Amino acid sequence: MKHYRTCNICEALCGLVIEHDGEKVLKIRGNEHDPLSRGHICPKAYGLKDIHEDPDRLRRPVRRVDGEWVETTWEEAWDAIAERVVSIQERHGPNSIGIYSGNPTAHSYSAILAAMPFYLSIGTHNRFSATSCDQLPHMFAALELFGGQVVFPVPDIDRTDMMVIIGGNPAVSNGSIMTAPGVNERLQKIRKRGGRVVVIDPRRTETARLADEHLFITPGTDAALLLAIIDVLFCEDLIDEGPWRDYVDGLPMLAATARRFPAARVAEATGIDAETIHRLAREIATADSAIVYGRLGTSTQEFGGLAAWLLYAINIITGNFDRPGGIMFGRPAVDLAAVAGLLGQKGHFGRRHSRVNGRPEFNDEFPASEIATEIDTPGEGRIRMMFTIAGNPVLSTPDGKRLAAALDGLESMVSFDMYVTATSSHAEWILPPPSPLERDHYGLVFHALGVRNTAKYSQPLFAAEPDSKEDWQNLLGIAAAINRRRRTLKGRVSAAALDRLSSLGAARLLDLALRCGPYGSFRRGHENDLSLSTLISAPHGIDFGPLESRAADAIQTKDGRIDVAPDVYQGDIPRLEKSLARDTGPHLKLIGRRTLRSNNTWLHNSRRLTKGKPGCTLLMNPKDARSRSIKNNDLVRVSSRTGSVDVTVTLTRDIMPGVVSMPHGWGHADKGAKLAVANTTGGASINDLTDASFHDSLTGTSALSGVPVNVHTVRA
Ligand code: SF4
Repeated sequence: MKHYRTCNICEALCGLVIEHDGEKVLKIRGNEHDPLSRGHICPKAYGLKDIHEDPDRLRRPVRRVDGEWVETTWEEAWDAIAERVVSIQERHGPNSIGIYSGNPTAHSYSAILAAMPFYLSIGTHNRFSATSCDQLPHMFAALELFGGQVVFPVPDIDRTDMMVIIGGNPAVSNGSIMTAPGVNERLQKIRKRGGRVVVIDPRRTETARLADEHLFITPGTDAALLLAIIDVLFCEDLIDEGPWRDYVDGLPMLAATARRFPAARVAEATGIDAETIHRLAREIATADSAIVYGRLGTSTQEFGGLAAWLLYAINIITGNFDRPGGIMFGRPAVDLAAVAGLLGQKGHFGRRHSRVNGRPEFNDEFPASEIATEIDTPGEGRIRMMFTIAGNPVLSTPDGKRLAAALDGLESMVSFDMYVTATSSHAEWILPPPSPLERDHYGLVFHALGVRNTAKYSQPLFAAEPDSKEDWQNLLGIAAAINRRRRTLKGRVSAAALDRLSSLGAARLLDLALRCGPYGSFRRGHENDLSLSTLISAPHGIDFGPLESRAADAIQTKDGRIDVAPDVYQGDIPRLEKSLARDTGPHLKLIGRRTLRSNNTWLHNSRRLTKGKPGCTLLMNPKDARSRSIKNNDLVRVSSRTGSVDVTVTLTRDIMPGVVSMPHGWGHADKGAKLAVANTTGGASINDLTDASFHDSLTGTSALSGVPVNVHTVRA
């Protein structure tokens, strides 16, 4: 039998054909009829089978009693959790509860729909998520330039003539804030049609190997490089005179800012010579169409805020905004950005600051690097109880060891998780959702970031075990149980309303959203007449065509115009200038990396995906190794201000001298995880080295890239 579904492991939304016998998955392959992925698949797709069949996966809710995990019922768990929340808040105030949401939440449309009633029922200011360790600077820039935190233009990779990729590795990720399954083929096609691909990265990545040119760049200097490129564009009169000029302000300010960063001034710090910077700027400006795209390496660093802004600015001033081959806004079937705009939820920044270190909120969330401090610092508003929702912050946020110790000091903790992980092992309750193959799926967030407008809905392949609960049901169940206990419901949704929402079901809400969307059946005269049932009857998905020019209706700024040099960025320019002259001393700079068979922290319990060569090694340039008497395969100790880890070294010229790289998401074994395979694969957590105090002071984003470290041999 065949089942068609969309893979929800990463952002790429690949269409899958799953052959099965009604009980077991027999084979998984790419669906060549999928309008977005066109048959592409990566090895991680088999992770869906491996997670489904994993004996370590929790099937029932559990509570820790005297150090042992004991099964409980959902209703007992919800009631006891609610009682604990209300009791703690009555004693210590509303902010004594902390909530962290991990990035799998973004892959679950139902959890997204249920999150707000849950947040309202808890009523805490201490909310955190993976955003501040990932894409926050891009959201910040979208808010500042386009008027909404999720108003993202997407690279029109299928029609561009030049693609410059900075600090991103789409050959492994298949795109991020750019849903582009099969990106290797898409990049190769740019070259086949006579275009150019340039990769700028401290590592010669898998993407760099597909490119025409690769340039090493010193971690943390992307913003300086981008300003130097902009300076060349202004100085050589290469600014495009396209229609965008009618709705863009701030050009003189942008030119004046860039003047402070001539190519000759940034060359040494970035590691890219002035002549190359000039050439690159000219190539971008004179290509028929071009995209400058940056991802994780540009955002999770000291100057991530500036870098994300400048990426958009270059695309705009070179005439590569809102036109084929440039960056364009998608038109998704459920337009979250438009809905947020209509509801007045465009996003905000700096309305309040964290209690201890004064870090700014972004859209009601403080940086995740602040969780441990907010737990272990006494005083009013201290966190006494944590919820972690589909996240593993002990392995994925800075200074994980300190966070693990802080979690042990809580009065209580609840984790929504399929496993006992490095994080959920600290919880009092773990509430597991059914396996991904037992749930339905619609890529609410990632369809909006697609390089083509499509919509796909997957029904569950296997029936979930009787009386299992999905995350959205747990969110609403706990919220209702809390609100039944509250003396006052000010600002909250009543328990009765939450019960009604639960019985309505997430799929009915999705149906409504699809019908109201741009292709929906409530839109008179639209030929697609979209609803959930039309999507169900199209198992390969529906293609709505390539990206279209639609900036006029996508932009949500008050006056409908784009300020290409918002004031908020100007105050951070002196900090960037100062960094150019900084002496980094004898330290190496640590950067992360992603591998094809791994996805953050959660595929390491698959034997299939972890077999072969060790996945977690330190990449080091032979030049740096020689001066430290380090040989290939030596066990080395990597030390930072916050801690040290031991890891095997791999010597390669693919990493820039002065830089070392470790993949993220590893190091389960010594942190209490009950993961039979992951606990034997070795590896260490890069976040035992990252530093909660090392951050982008403009946006609060964690600086996970460019962490100063020392490396020396432990033994050969
Ligand atoms: S690229 Fe992502 S979505 Fe596609 S098969 Fe791999 S893990 Fe799944």
